[in-house]
Amino acid sequence: MTSTISPAQLDHTAERLRKAFNTGRTRPLAWRREQLKGLRSMLIEREEDFLAALATDLGKPRLEAWVTEIGFTINEINLTLKNLKRWTKPKRVSTPMFIKPGSGRVIREPLGTVLVIAPWNYPLQLALAPLIGALAAGNTVALKPSEISSATSNTIARLVPQYVDAEAVSIVEGGVSETQNLLQQKWDYIFYTGNGAVGRQVMAAAAQHLTPVTLELGGKSPAIIDKSANLEVAGRRLAWGKFLNSGQTCIAPDYALVDKSVKDELVKYIQASITDFYGSDPSTSPDYARIINDRHFGRLTALIDSGSVLIGGQHDGSTRFIAPTVLDGISGDSAVMQEEIFGPILPLITVDSSDEAIAFINERDKPLALYVFAQDDKVIDRVLDQTSSGGVCVNGVILQVAAPNLPFGGVGESGMGNYHGRASFDIFTHAKPVLRRGTRPDPALAYPPYTKKKEKMIRRFS
Ligand code: NAD
Repeated sequence: MTSTISPAQLDHTAERLRKAFNTGRTRPLAWRREQLKGLRSMLIEREEDFLAALATDLGKPRLEAWVTEIGFTINEINLTLKNLKRWTKPKRVSTPMFIKPGSGRVIREPLGTVLVIAPWNYPLQLALAPLIGALAAGNTVALKPSEISSATSNTIARLVPQYVDAEAVSIVEGGVSETQNLLQQKWDYIFYTGNGAVGRQVMAAAAQHLTPVTLELGGKSPAIIDKSANLEVAGRRLAWGKFLNSGQTCIAPDYALVDKSVKDELVKYIQASITDFYGSDPSTSPDYARIINDRHFGRLTALIDSGSVLIGGQHDGSTRFIAPTVLDGISGDSAVMQEEIFGPILPLITVDSSDEAIAFINERDKPLALYVFAQDDKVIDRVLDQTSSGGVCVNGVILQVAAPNLPFGGVGESGMGNYHGRASFDIFTHAKPVLRRGTRPDPALAYPPYTKKKEKMIRRFS
């Protein structure tokens, strides 16, 4: 059975899913667990289908694709299955004297019918991770994968309905017009991952129905390299996080603010790491991904001219290969600093101190991620205290997203709302407070007519 939507059905997607929600089928814990187990079986049994699709879309190396898209998602499912019973349990809260007899509890109820819109850069993980939260919470879901990663979108549309309740989950394939159509419909929640310009449109459309949103956006995530840093580790981790998926990672270190006294040594270690990872000619490495399409390839190759090339710079349009590239001579005004890079180009901006780096960051939009490499705890504390970002990783990059008990999300221009693990369950549920009152005793004290004596008592017990 397939739940892929035909154009004629598209207009009624939310309505159809709401009908399914209203049958109550998605509420039992057993149903929710079944869906999560179905998704897990799909990822295990159809691993090769997904790896092939990810290779077609982005030239994703097998291991990288498995770790960041499949393994990541299986871990998220396992964590959710392990904790779901506890998360769904009503939470008792104490009630004050004047409400007694009575007991209070918070019930986590599903929101209803939700829309998930996913981007192309981690096209499987970023479609399924919100889906896991939405199903764990007992919702019906429309999922719109990105048309730009079309092979993965097709595979999701083909396989997901075979492994989950196809009445409760609809995969809608398509681009701008299909997404705009979905956005006109009334949802109980919209979860969007992608760029901020579309994020604004999503929020405006959601406002028409007072629908709450999570916006997982991007931006320029800085890495501060303090003079106290372990430069060998910093060089290696920066190179790994920047060139993973050819830089097409929302939390990739976008640019580095490097203390000028350590820049040359850092560059040496970045260069050594690139060679260790991808050999002397990265175009022949099976472990290096490609740029998603010609538009992004053209945009990125133009950015290489923003500064002087210290490392890399080679590119090949026929395979959409861009070598791991490091640029020098960059300032805040350079072209490469005007937009999120989203590709394998690392501009270095030299600073005299970490305080100068902090000031540079604070003059700009709040980033999704912030990285600080330092061994001096005072520097680390100053960075944490004086900057704002969606998340932080100290002496590392990227891996803050992989710790399932750390909520993940942006702040300001980098988005709103967190997810992963418990946070995913929370955003897709309403915390419904319920007060249950006892019927005896029911003292006259609480009701009019108000007397002096009652007032005295009420003031005492309130
Ligand atoms: P994209 O072009 O695939 O767009 C995302 C989704 O929005 C797609 O499903 C697409 O069909 C839809 N869409 C595009 N234009 C639309 C429009 N005009 N109206 C309605 N829907 C539209 O992906 P993208 O935006 O290029 O993704 C890259 C951006 O996403 C980067 O800024 C990146 O940093 C950010 N990102 C953020 C996260 C995160 O978790 N915070 C993760 C990945 C990517």
